[in-house]
Amino acid sequence: MTDAHTSDSGSRPNRGATAYSALREAIMENALKPGVKLPEEDLGQHFGVSRTLVRAALAQLALEGLVEIGKTKSATVAQPTTADAREAFELRRALEREVARQVAERWNADSQAALEAHIAAERTASDEGNQKLSVRLGAEFHILLADMAGNSLLRRYVFEVVGRTTLILAVHGQAHPQNDSLDEHIRLVEALKRGDAATASQIVDAHILAVENRALGDLGPDEGAGLSQILSRYAQPVRR
Ligand SMILES: [Zn+2]
Repeated sequence: MTDAHTSDSGSRPNRGATAYSALREAIMENALKPGVKLPEEDLGQHFGVSRTLVRAALAQLALEGLVEIGKTKSATVAQPTTADAREAFELRRALEREVARQVAERWNADSQAALEAHIAAERTASDEGNQKLSVRLGAEFHILLADMAGNSLLRRYVFEVVGRTTLILAVHGQAHPQNDSLDEHIRLVEALKRGDAATASQIVDAHILAVENRALGDLGPDEGAGLSQILSRYAQPVRR
C-alpha cells in the first residue's frame, strides 16, 4: 500500500485517509457491491474532502484491485473474474504460508495476546450473528498475522491480496463463513504457540483453500440503499 491517502496534511490531516478506509471497509463487507458507481463529487461531499483527495483514495483502491477506473475516469467497485479469483487465492496461499512460518519463529507473549483478543472479537461477532463484522474481522485476522511477520513488504502484499480475495468472495458467494473459519484460526494459533512452523504453514494453506471452496451462498443484501446511506455506517459525514 502506498500512502497517497496520508498526503492530506494541514487542517484536515485524516479525511483523505478516512475516505480511503471507509470505502475499503464498505467494499470488503460487500455493502458497496461490485459495479456500484463511486462518483468523486458525491464522495467528496459525503466525506467533506476535495475531489483531489477522493481521486487519490480511489486510485489507491484501484491499485489494490478493489476499484476499477473506467475510460471516462469514472470509478466503480471492481468486478473480479473467476480467473482473477484463482490467481489471487493462489498468491495468497503462498504469501500466508510464509507469514505463518515467520510468525512461528518470532512468536512472543504480545503476539499471543493480540491474536487471542482478535479471536475473542471474532467469536462475539459470530455469536451475535453480525455477518458483515464477522467477515471483516475474519479478513483482519490475516492482516494482524502479517503485521507480526516482521517484513513490511510481505505485510503490504498480504494486505492487498486479502482485500482482493475478500471482494472476490463477496462477488462469487459467501465471504469467509465464520464457524469453520474461526475453528481454523484457533488451530492455527495453537500451532504457532507450539512454535510449529511447518504445521502452522500447512493449516493456513488448507484454511485459505477451504475459504475459497466454501464460497457459496450470499450475504445480506443492501440493494437500494444510497451511497451516502451505506457509507454513513463507516464514517460520519462531514458538515461544511
Ligand atoms: Zn481466515
